[in-house]
Amino acid sequence: LPSRLTPTQKNVWIEYVQLAEDYKPLNLGLGIPDYPPPNYVTQTLAQIAKSGDCLLHQYTRDYGHPRLVSALSQLYSRLVKRPINPQTEILTTVGAFEALFSTIIGHVDQGDEVIIIEPFFECYEPMVKMAGGVPKFIPLRLKDLPPNQVPTSGDWTLDKDELEGLFTPKTKLLVLNNPHNPLGKVFKLEELQHIADLCKKWNVLCISDEVYEWIVYKPNKHIRIATLPGMWDRTITIGSTGKTFSVTGWKLGWAYGPSNLLYNLQMVHQNSVYTGNTPIQEVVAIGLEKELECLDRNDCYFNSISSELVVKRDFMVKVLSEVGMKPTVPEGGYFMVADWTPLESQIDLSSEKDKWKDYRFTKWMTKNLGLQGIPPSAFYTERDKSLAENFVRYCFFKKHENLEEAARILKKWK
Ligand code: PMP
Ligand code: GLN
Repeated sequence: LPSRLTPTQKNVWIEYVQLAEDYKPLNLGLGIPDYPPPNYVTQTLAQIAKSGDCLLHQYTRDYGHPRLVSALSQLYSRLVKRPINPQTEILTTVGAFEALFSTIIGHVDQGDEVIIIEPFFECYEPMVKMAGGVPKFIPLRLKDLPPNQVPTSGDWTLDKDELEGLFTPKTKLLVLNNPHNPLGKVFKLEELQHIADLCKKWNVLCISDEVYEWIVYKPNKHIRIATLPGMWDRTITIGSTGKTFSVTGWKLGWAYGPSNLLYNLQMVHQNSVYTGNTPIQEVVAIGLEKELECLDRNDCYFNSISSELVVKRDFMVKVLSEVGMKPTVPEGGYFMVADWTPLESQIDLSSEKDKWKDYRFTKWMTKNLGLQGIPPSAFYTERDKSLAENFVRYCFFKKHENLEEAARILKKWK
């Protein structure tokens, strides 16, 4: 293996998808819905497959299918309140994953420092290392709260001085994930302002991974950091069809930002992927056009998805609290972390050999109770993994009957 790839070998998704294959648990691990996406989305896919337009089955424009970049430009011009050029300021990619990869490989040079907020979506660290960069980490920390207060993801905060202390003349990039996986944190204006001020002060670029932009629970509001004064010129914002239309298997994402920054992503894209899947891009373009027509109405999918999920969130908070765990109520996204250690005395984890306790707990639970979660220490660098050992991450984008089944499993065990 080339040395640039050696830090990239362990991968929680590969390990836990295999674990689920082997033990067939009720799977609240991987972040996927277990019921169909909106009807009109799958119907459009069927229509495109049957349409007589044979060119929809051939290569499309390299940096993004024309109809899709046009729809994305209309959507985001409206949301960031500035005209976005569909040709030069948007790139469509193979999932948000490729958008992250193209941004990091396209901007980080040997020795450049990249600030990453923990917990972080697990590919950020290996991507930075693959680019020859040096990741610098700062954890979100849960505030001290009165014993009976249920924490929310808003109680996980960055220490302002600690963040400032990470910036150096070598800092090239800061990676922000908002709304946040796995905590569900939706950054407040004041928090984003502090990050933005530091990026401007140190002339640092910001990658804003906003794949959960439509999943935000009232009264929280999603604020795009690119809309803060002086930030458009230094921000690349990333989105995902998988999260936007609840079709994670479609693996279509995008990045938007100023053309001089997008150019670097285009260079990585044209030399690795070249062009994305045409029919899926056409379907998503049509889906976005439909959403654009109804964006001000509650029945549009982008607005209704959070109402659908908030019920599931509240159910999971209740169940986890009743069995004695301490969940953090997420303000957005469809994951929840919970402190499972109040139950530690009831479990014998000695059959599991992993270094970190959350890995041992989640594997034990998969094998012995048939319920899978993800160990959040996967979202921390080696130095900081112990900060996550008391937690487990559950995905609650599941049919109600499956959440009830999870409740039955946990209550029976308790
Ligand atoms: N960023 C975050 C925070 C994620 O949770 C995910 C997983 N969906 C991705 C990026 C990757 O998205 P995609 O499936 O579109 O590649
Ligand atoms: N984002 C999803 C999760 O956090 C899926 C992970 C992935 O893209 N492999 O569960």
